[in-house]
Amino acid sequence: MLALRKNIPGPGAELVRCGQSEPLASGEIRVDVRAAGICGSDLHAHAWDASYAFMSPFLPLTLGHEFSGVVAAVAPDVTEISVGDSIVCWPTVTCGTCAACRAGRPGGCEARRVIGLHRDGGFADSVRMPAANALRLPDGLPLDVAALTEPLAVSINAVDVAGVAKGDRVVVLGPGPIGMGIALVAQARGADVLLAGFRDDARLALARDMGLKAVADLAQVTLAEAAQAHFGGAPDVVLEATGHASSVTEGLAILRPGGVLAVVGIHAQPLSLDLNLLVRGKKQLRGAHDSTPQAFAEAIARLAAEPGLYARMITHRLPLAQAEDGFALARQGAALKVMLFPGEVKENV
Ligand SMILES: [Zn+2]
Ligand SMILES: [Zn+2]
Repeated sequence: MLALRKNIPGPGAELVRCGQSEPLASGEIRVDVRAAGICGSDLHAHAWDASYAFMSPFLPLTLGHEFSGVVAAVAPDVTEISVGDSIVCWPTVTCGTCAACRAGRPGGCEARRVIGLHRDGGFADSVRMPAANALRLPDGLPLDVAALTEPLAVSINAVDVAGVAKGDRVVVLGPGPIGMGIALVAQARGADVLLAGFRDDARLALARDMGLKAVADLAQVTLAEAAQAHFGGAPDVVLEATGHASSVTEGLAILRPGGVLAVVGIHAQPLSLDLNLLVRGKKQLRGAHDSTPQAFAEAIARLAAEPGLYARMITHRLPLAQAEDGFALARQGAALKVMLFPGEVKENV
């Protein structure tokens, strides 16, 4: 089978033909992958950014954690999932026994492992994974759209962490897949949302087409001006999804006293921050990462309710054999979500 493998702790990944992985262990299933999205973390792992060195002891492995597929085989002790089921992968594998797991906070599991970062993932014809990490899809949710579940769940979790409430004035910085999801979900929950980008014509135009009421290109206007023009005042919440440290400083500066800024991007650079801005303004700085089972369930429900809307986030579709082209596209500002297809490339798989 074809698989995009990260073989060595250094830049790059290799598209290889390999045999199917080992036989199924207890509790595992084999899934024929139908669609797998390229995530920001795949780009970081591919480029071998410093903060991805944690992967070293787990190499070689197949990348890809945003995937959907059809169950091809199940271990004898698996009862909850059957051959032929359409599923999406919940990529977090937890130990089930640590304090965080017992307290119902799987995201805090000390022995947490991620499919596609610590063990073989979905940029392959098929993948072996725990049945407990497969969520059966509702009828009528196409598998390509279902592969957006994980990034949308990350967006939903960020909206939850930021405490966005109905009527809140919300600024979202960064119109990438996560920022776009945050803006769509916050607006759907009744917030007044302004989505800002920097020289991001294509993605901001797509955001408007998808129904976002307000967007701003910060190449033409400052963030403070854009917020003032749209809200006539300071926002209640800012969500940063750019990965640029300066966005955090700018976001804090425009936030109303007592407002919340949630940092969602993965940052290559540290930030030097005037904490008096935070203290005297009584502002809250929060970090949002990964998702929760609740956010994952909400993501599936939102995708199933409006598959046509969310399908528009998939701006590029490529066969897995052209994975490198897909990674190059994903690095460019014009692409929103690049989806790889091990089988036939099509819509509504
Ligand atoms: Zn992801
Ligand atoms: Zn645990």
